[in-house]
Amino acid sequence: MRQIAPSLYQLNLGIANAYLIRSKNAVVLVDAGLQHSLPKVEHGLKRARLAWRDLTHIFITHAHPDHVGNFPEIARLSGAQVWAHRLEAPILRGQRPVWLPDPQSLRWVDRWTRSLARLNRETQATGMVQRELEDDEPLSHLVPDLRVVHLPGHSAGHTGFYNKLEGWLIGGDVMMNLVGLSFPMAAFTPDPAKAWRSILRVATIQPKILALGHGSPLLNAEEALGRMSRRAQSELQRLEVG
Ligand SMILES: [Zn+2]
Ligand SMILES: [Zn+2]
Repeated sequence: MRQIAPSLYQLNLGIANAYLIRSKNAVVLVDAGLQHSLPKVEHGLKRARLAWRDLTHIFITHAHPDHVGNFPEIARLSGAQVWAHRLEAPILRGQRPVWLPDPQSLRWVDRWTRSLARLNRETQATGMVQRELEDDEPLSHLVPDLRVVHLPGHSAGHTGFYNKLEGWLIGGDVMMNLVGLSFPMAAFTPDPAKAWRSILRVATIQPKILALGHGSPLLNAEEALGRMSRRAQSELQRLEVG
């Protein structure tokens, strides 16, 4: 558990990050790693001197298996409410499959990457979602100055959480920061045009800290976001022409 802003903590769960937001009114877990990450989440909470019952909310950025973990079990242990975007909630409830790119649209290397991940109903945790979120919805009753930012493309209901006061944005898989800031994995990003537009939106928001699902949180994000914004503009031009 690493503190990266006054109310924000990174929980490194191996393949993916989860985050913890602590405020006077709430303790929010954002994402939950893979299904077997539950002991790691518990360990992280313990290190922050928190117990399961201290968790008040679980926010899910998007319904990919490396982000939802075993959210129903965490909800059961903690009594926390599960909140996710309106378009992502049906997947989390098991009413709709994960939305993936048409294999024909992928390069062979991306088709191969995709074949390695067994994305199916059997590996996907499903459970209750108590509240469906909308773009730009204020969540300041939980955390001062926190807002929902809908960032579609990587999935239809992919959502970030922006705290203007502290200058951070939890961005899920809107980008990755594995070897510098980059576009999310093409193999799992069904709408590249929307995904690039979402990157532009993050660049327009200009968060100082960009806390992503994969890779270290970026602490001085402005310059790298400027570069991504220029790339997004040229990629969008190319996509519109082609
Ligand atoms: Zn994802
Ligand atoms: Zn991911």
